[in-house]
Amino acid sequence: MSDTATPDLERTIEVRNPADGRLVGKVPEESAASVAATVRELRLQQAEWEALGVAGRAKWLRRFQDWLVDHSARLTDLIQAETGKTRFDAEIEVPAAIDLVKYWARNAQSFLADERPAPHSPIGLGKRLVQTFRPYPVVGIITPWNLPLLNPCFDAFAALAAGAAVLIKPSEVTPLCAQELAKGWAEIGAPPVFRVLTGGGDTGSAVVDTVDFVQFTGSTRTGRAIAVACGQRLIPYSLELGGKDPAIVLADVDVERAAAGILYGGLFNSGQVCISVERVYVEAPVYDRFVQSLVAQVAALRQGADDRRFAFDIGAMATAAQRDIVTGQVADAVAKGARILTGGKATGAGTFFEPTVLVDVDHSMLCLTEETFGPLIPIIRVAGEDEAVRLANDSVYGLSATVWTADRRRGERLARRLEVGAVNINDAFANLVNFALPMGGWKDSGIGARWGGAAGIRKYCRTQAITVPRGPELPREPLWYPASRWRSRVVTTLMRVVDARGRRKLPFAVRRNQL
Ligand code: NAD
Repeated sequence: MSDTATPDLERTIEVRNPADGRLVGKVPEESAASVAATVRELRLQQAEWEALGVAGRAKWLRRFQDWLVDHSARLTDLIQAETGKTRFDAEIEVPAAIDLVKYWARNAQSFLADERPAPHSPIGLGKRLVQTFRPYPVVGIITPWNLPLLNPCFDAFAALAAGAAVLIKPSEVTPLCAQELAKGWAEIGAPPVFRVLTGGGDTGSAVVDTVDFVQFTGSTRTGRAIAVACGQRLIPYSLELGGKDPAIVLADVDVERAAAGILYGGLFNSGQVCISVERVYVEAPVYDRFVQSLVAQVAALRQGADDRRFAFDIGAMATAAQRDIVTGQVADAVAKGARILTGGKATGAGTFFEPTVLVDVDHSMLCLTEETFGPLIPIIRVAGEDEAVRLANDSVYGLSATVWTADRRRGERLARRLEVGAVNINDAFANLVNFALPMGGWKDSGIGARWGGAAGIRKYCRTQAITVPRGPELPREPLWYPASRWRSRVVTTLMRVVDARGRRKLPFAVRRNQL
């Protein structure tokens, strides 16, 4: 980042490709004043956006869906440029974003339809009850760097469909994709309710200080600070934080397949996914075969700086700092007795770190307790499923988990014993691409969830309750003034008849204490 003495307008952030250090862009470091001014503008535009109605907003989301399709290749180039990831890993982001925008455009209408509940008591029959869903005016979305295009899309589409205006503050490490999204929104001529402001933690903090709802994805440390700031302002928030996802391999499993799945779950995006497999517990009878298979498969992976060739499986890490965290965790484990079976060090080029398998590890080591967010797979032998569950639950995190078994019912039973927000049986990441299910973490992995049917869009709304009289209106309601013993008795007796049980319903019995 280059800092000059002149004011905020001159402050810029340099974006480099971590695979080779090449400069790929520069973005402004926006000030708190600029954030406040943008939020004011968004607030003014939002009313019109809400007034368009769900169908009107869905039309714009569909046009944006087309824009994403038309610009897929260029966006994927940009994802690679600012992250150093492989083409194979980068390719999936735009199609997943398209799938998501379609999901909200298609379902928002039914998810946001007014509800007309029946009164909870016959006494309420005189009113028609309506519950509506009205958006928070400005939703602030703060994102990390691991999926630079998808992370903003994960939350922006639902908030826009709900009728909110959206301000995104992308990671300072990978701000270019989010900027492109905002340009695309303007290019299709959509109402100006989707903006992106770039900058670091201070810019993010200014967003938290001004918006009406904060959707944060990032580290648990930052999430905690945001929760405190939102608490001070009494505004709602939703936090998608770090994880330490366990994989449990049962003895009845197809070992080769489980190893391939865990390899993908642990090493996709160089392990820089919140729901990466970060620790593996294997039942003793298949431990040796599993380790052997995994090590052979990891050793065969190709690592390097890719372009559009699909020539490599594993790319660079997004930052040197993240690479150094992995280096530190490996050193800590080895110092405490762990063995490296393959990989184990930075390659020396760019920010690449070799995909690594560790054994002889235990929960005294950082690689088993702290989030790695890197290409590291530590494996522990367990006596049986009870030990696996105990160790899997021995974490401050509770994002997701995987279970690998030939017995799907057993897998599902085991899932219900895990203290995590999602469990995938015989696959990794499956919950992330099934929008009908919520994606959210337990414990230190977050508060709230994204998507998951109606709840995923209603979270961006305030519920409003409306009561409307049915039938003729009395000149005065029974409890309006002036006070009257007779009217009070009628109302309270009626309530007792409805709400008390058995003989207690009888007005005379109660009044004379004859029960
Ligand atoms: P981070 O917490 O350092 O930063 C995330 C974002 O918060 C960045 O945009 C940053 O500029 C901003 N920020 C920093 N300080 C802030 C403050 N005080 N107020 C407001 N904003 C602030 O996280 P990171 O290193 O960018 O991302 C990696 C983390 O993200 C990992 O822990 C990973 O598990 C997590 N993550 C979680 C999910 C999920 O869905 N649960 C998905 C992806 C990543």
